[in-house]
Amino acid sequence: MPRVFNFSAGPAMMPEAVLRRAAEEMADFSGSGMSVMEMSHRSKDYVAIFEGVEMKLRAALGVPEGYAVLFLQGGATLQFSAVPMNLLAARGAADYAVTGFFSKKAFQCAKMYGDVRAACDTGDYYAIPGQDGLALNPDASYFHYCHNNTVYGTRWPYLPETGGVPLVCDMSSSILSEPADVSKFGVIYAGAQKNMGPAGLTVVIARKDLLDAPPLPGTPDLLRYKAQAENGSMINTPATYGVYLLGLVLDWLAGQGGVEAMAKHNARKAAAVYDAVDASPVFACKAEQSARSMMNVVFSSGSEETDGRFIKEAKARGMVTLKAHRATGGIRASMYNAMPLEGAERLAELIREFA
Ligand SMILES: *Cc1c(COP(=O)(O)O)cnc(C)c1O
Repeated sequence: MPRVFNFSAGPAMMPEAVLRRAAEEMADFSGSGMSVMEMSHRSKDYVAIFEGVEMKLRAALGVPEGYAVLFLQGGATLQFSAVPMNLLAARGAADYAVTGFFSKKAFQCAKMYGDVRAACDTGDYYAIPGQDGLALNPDASYFHYCHNNTVYGTRWPYLPETGGVPLVCDMSSSILSEPADVSKFGVIYAGAQKNMGPAGLTVVIARKDLLDAPPLPGTPDLLRYKAQAENGSMINTPATYGVYLLGLVLDWLAGQGGVEAMAKHNARKAAAVYDAVDASPVFACKAEQSARSMMNVVFSSGSEETDGRFIKEAKARGMVTLKAHRATGGIRASMYNAMPLEGAERLAELIREFA
């Protein structure tokens, strides 16, 4: 069976070279006589891997000195709680930009912990409000937003200006897909299963001075950034194999030319599919031009039956997992870093032919 082009929103495609290297190293990692997944997380071999991955991630994203990098578990969804538990008490209030499915979940979750307000929620998740559309509380502990809205296929085209209020960003579906100036953020978090590796690993990048804020009472150590930072993300057993795979992905990424090269590659793929959709008499994309996602292209014919036929035809041609999220319906082509240009081109070709 040849490998398919998997357009899944997550868990998503991995670079084939990474899978092959993992397979080669599976039973005997570097002459250790064991698999990485069999190693004690406290062993010398494993600690070397773990520390190496942190260094590679810092290099790939240009993470400044004053930031902690944490390798946690629980997905981005557990961060919906961890963020307010760690940061809300600093000044007692927080702002959330509600621009899609996951940012709404993050907002609803955070509201349970205190004075949390929506900085925007137009209900139209196919657009991103401009800076003028954000109602900001200058005394907030932080401003939370989701850089790339995985479900609706939108992306913030600008960095929100909050006048010194720390930016907290859910980058689950866009981290490492384009450059980001980490120094502009208070906290960045992301589940690994879109652009970084397998599910089960969550990366948190946090400005160290924010870790001194008092956590909410009852915050468990596993969710406390400060405690995790002090213990090198090893209060308990971390997602050992997932971190190792992230390392392989980062080696692959460096070989591709890093995040700048990735951004160009991703822009080409997205343009191929958007151009085909825009030219199609059958399909349309609801996401506003200026806010279109490079990672998740959401489109539809307006007819469930027609979309279903397209998805079936795509599958017959080796392109799978194109059904969109139930919140939007239609078709979603998720094209993270590991999706080759050929996958995007083949999809564009089918969009043209289908007409
Ligand atoms: C996938 C996704 C999530 C949920 O991630 P889990 O790891 O399943 O908790 C949250 N936010 C964004 C932007 C996502 O794409």
